[in-house]
Amino acid sequence: MDGDGERKGEFDGKAAAELVGELRQSFWNGKTRSYDWRTDQLRSLARMLVEKEKDIIDALHEDLGKPEMESFIHEISLAKDGCARTLKELKSWMKPQKVSTSITTFPSSAEIVSEPLGVVLVISAWNYPFLLSLEPVVGAIAAGNAVVLKPSEIAPATSSLLKRLLPGYVDSSSIRVVEGGVPETTALLDQKWDKIIYTGNSKVGRIVMAAAAKHLTPVVLELGGKCPVVVDSKVDLDVATKRIAVGKWGCNNGQACISPDYIITEREFAPKLIEAMKSTLEIFYGKDPMASKDLSRIVNSNHFKRISKLLDSDKVSEKIVHGGQRDEQALKISPTLLLDVPQDSLIMTEEIFGPLLPIITVDDIHQSFDIINSRPKPLAAYLFTKDKKLEEKFVRGVSAGGMSINETVLHITNPGLPFGGVGESGMGAYHGKFSFDTFSHKKAVLRRSFGGEAPARYPPYTPKKSRLLKALVNGDIIGIILALIGWPRA
Ligand code: NAD
Repeated sequence: MDGDGERKGEFDGKAAAELVGELRQSFWNGKTRSYDWRTDQLRSLARMLVEKEKDIIDALHEDLGKPEMESFIHEISLAKDGCARTLKELKSWMKPQKVSTSITTFPSSAEIVSEPLGVVLVISAWNYPFLLSLEPVVGAIAAGNAVVLKPSEIAPATSSLLKRLLPGYVDSSSIRVVEGGVPETTALLDQKWDKIIYTGNSKVGRIVMAAAAKHLTPVVLELGGKCPVVVDSKVDLDVATKRIAVGKWGCNNGQACISPDYIITEREFAPKLIEAMKSTLEIFYGKDPMASKDLSRIVNSNHFKRISKLLDSDKVSEKIVHGGQRDEQALKISPTLLLDVPQDSLIMTEEIFGPLLPIITVDDIHQSFDIINSRPKPLAAYLFTKDKKLEEKFVRGVSAGGMSINETVLHITNPGLPFGGVGESGMGAYHGKFSFDTFSHKKAVLRRSFGGEAPARYPPYTPKKSRLLKALVNGDIIGIILALIGWPRA
């Protein structure tokens, strides 16, 4: 297919079918399977991250007003790290994994062989438009697949940069970018894929899963939700507020799937926490946060209106205890704290995905568990405490995709940990080896020679054979010997 067919607005079902057909042919030819092909692509992507760092930072600034430091640390560095770690470990990940054998298969050997799935589709979101596009692609390539990336149209500068850059760095016969919105994604979803990884909201997640079901295609859904932060009174308040603030406003101004969505704390402790949060915010973003260069803007006017609605519904703006400034022209909303908004208000039932942070108070911190567990399972949950018993109770008693204790967000940066949701926050996981596993089929392989025959398993079935087989599967050594020599059991 010529490149024009993949231009935004011209990509229909026919173009999608041709594209998938082409990539499938390339996959069948076997080129994506070799270790050398995989590492060549990954090395080239790592080089792109160095050579095009400024273009990436500029595109992220154009899309989101993202501060350079956040673009570098959260998008470029993490992508680089993903490539470097994969390159370092890929050989060992690709090795068949020996497993033990059982008496019923003796003599034999057994192993798990990781084989590529085929042609996979990556549908990415706008808030970390570079990392959320590249990281799944790295995993798909590492596992030896052909891959189509569909970046988010809500971050057009990054989407178009990816479309322009990738052909210069990777093998276009097996790795492609398709730009576009709903029509183009729908055309892609109509095709048969071998895996789909989708990042975005759960409403579209359901559309993706329904489309995948038609072809029995497995899916990874990286969704969102309301990530709670429980703040106990036994904390280092200065450290806690800094770590909450950087996980909220220091992550794309709260437009991050694992950013704190709301805080739960004890009623008596709330005033102290609010004062500490206010002073941390002033240290971070000055007296006029609307003028701060260290805060991303809201991505577009639809999302500005969506976040504004959260403040304007249910009279929750009366509950603002800090911030609340809005500038629709500049698409800016200042870091905003609200105290004791009703739990059934829109702001407490919808994912906020922006700079608002409600604080819910309880009489006893243990009540926070019931509040969290009565809601859809979050993508991340956080606890700040020096109380080890409370910590243990939280880790065991709260269900979430992942968690950090006395920290926010950082668990996502450890490639040794899987990243993914549970329940309403998603299914499947990736990052590091989990990406390789996600995009591989784990093939069970048993190997035998022509020796070691066991005639007892072949018909005609006789009482002696039956006795021997029963003793074998029960691990009854004496029974096996007696059956073999034909002695009756005492
Ligand atoms: P978005 O608007 O960029 O949409 C995501 C993708 O879905 C885009 O590529 C878009 O083109 C496609 N899409 C949109 N509507 C579609 C439709 N009707 N049919 C087919 N495809 C469609 O992103 P968003 O949904 O606004 O992203 C924000 C949500 O994503 C939040 O809920 C957030 O928590 C979640 N999120 C999750 C993660 C994660 O890793 N778990 C990361 C980022 C964001």
